Amino acid sequence: MNVQETRLRNPVASDATGGLALDRRSLFEERGAVVAATAAADADEVDLQARFPKAAIDAARAQQLLGMQIPVAFGGLGATIHDVTEICYTLGRACASTAMIFAMHQTKVACLVRHGAGSHWHEVLMRRVAAEQLLLASSTTEGQNGGNIRASAAAVEQSDGEISLLRNATVISYGAEADGIVTIARRTGDAAASDQVLLAVTKDNYTLGRIQGWETLGMRGTCSAGFELKIRGPAAMIFPEAYDRIHVQTMTPVAHLCWSSAWAGIAAAAVERAQRFIRKAARGAGGQMPPGAAHFTAARMSLAKLRAMIAANLDLYAAHEYDERALASLDFQSSINLLKVEASELAVQTAMNAMRACGLAGYRNDGEFSVGRHLRDALSSPLMINNDRILANIAAASLMSGVPATLRD
Ligand SMILES: Cc1cc2nc3c(=O)[nH]c(=O)nc-3n(C[C@H](O)[C@H](O)[C@H](O)COP(=O)(O)OP(=O)(O)OC[C@H]3O[C@@H](n4cnc5c(N)ncnc54)[C@H](O)[C@@H]3O)c2cc1C
Repeated sequence: MNVQETRLRNPVASDATGGLALDRRSLFEERGAVVAATAAADADEVDLQARFPKAAIDAARAQQLLGMQIPVAFGGLGATIHDVTEICYTLGRACASTAMIFAMHQTKVACLVRHGAGSHWHEVLMRRVAAEQLLLASSTTEGQNGGNIRASAAAVEQSDGEISLLRNATVISYGAEADGIVTIARRTGDAAASDQVLLAVTKDNYTLGRIQGWETLGMRGTCSAGFELKIRGPAAMIFPEAYDRIHVQTMTPVAHLCWSSAWAGIAAAAVERAQRFIRKAARGAGGQMPPGAAHFTAARMSLAKLRAMIAANLDLYAAHEYDERALASLDFQSSINLLKVEASELAVQTAMNAMRACGLAGYRNDGEFSVGRHLRDALSSPLMINNDRILANIAAASLMSGVPATLRD
């Protein structure tokens, strides 16, 4: 354990002038940068071969980042949502698949930390995530139900003091590489589709039978294949709280914040390439701006909007993180759902503007100005829990919520 980490885990040793916050920030920045360097070196090959970014995830393990959110009392680094999303952004700039894997894992860990405290099974798992740097995957998509997370088909069965669950899990990112899965199911065989529970299971309690591959346009390194997921084990794997509360308080906000940050990272990487292209073109023309410069300005503008939107929602979530009523409010839920919709559209728009700024050099799959991978990766974002579905779901709630009377709340 280095000096910084010792201070982080022992806040009493820190000074009273914000030293701990600075320590935390620089510790995570340094570690995020190490993982990003590994991810960047591998990004093109991960994309080309549609393979899991093993080197980057191993680096995240070595930097103790898979357990960064686990409270210090359970052996983790007690990271905040700001710390986590900053790393999602840093990784997004390097390799979109690595960033998305990291974002999904952190969302599952957030559910474990917030809703597992007080439950022996989940507390043991928290300690294991920190000590063994376990990678947790997510299984919410089921059959042809798309992104309709608040309705499950498969139900938990009870027999001989054990529970079992059989899920047609059509998409599980890095399912084959994960050490554990967090999944949803109907509470019992006669429960309604929306009466759901959340389960956290480790490898010794499930098997995966592959039913579908992952040959896609982008996000190829997430290896989001389809599986028949069979779970058997103690009932304690089920979180004590009902899923509807976990969904509203943690799953949705943390997923949308982490995903958006990863997408913003992809957009930033595309902008960076466009900037290099425009600079080179301007230098080659004696300082004369190339005609595509306006597209670069537009890319910068949409990236600025994207970052501002994420920052505002991050602060909003952090301010109400332990206020169940505020998190469940129409205003917060609309904001956090619209963040996902807007961030995904802005990420695509930014990458598209960057491509147009670079012209053919951006469209090419080779060369230092290619933004093809970024655009393909960003295109997954409006589909990942489809924006149309989200907008349709919140239409009625938006009608009920008043128009703001002031610029700032
Ligand atoms: C990169 C990536 C990684 C993923 N990883 C995981 C994972 O780890 N675990 C997991 O469980 N899932 C994962 N998913 C799946 C994801 O969460 C969604 O479930 C999935 O993308 C939705 O699939 P769909 O487009 O077929 O379904 P749908 O959401 O049903 O959408 C299909 C079509 O129907 C339209 N549509 C649907 N509902 C409405 C509506 N109410 N109003 C209007 N139009 C509507 C949509 O616009 C779309 O055209 C991942 C997806 C991606 C892209």
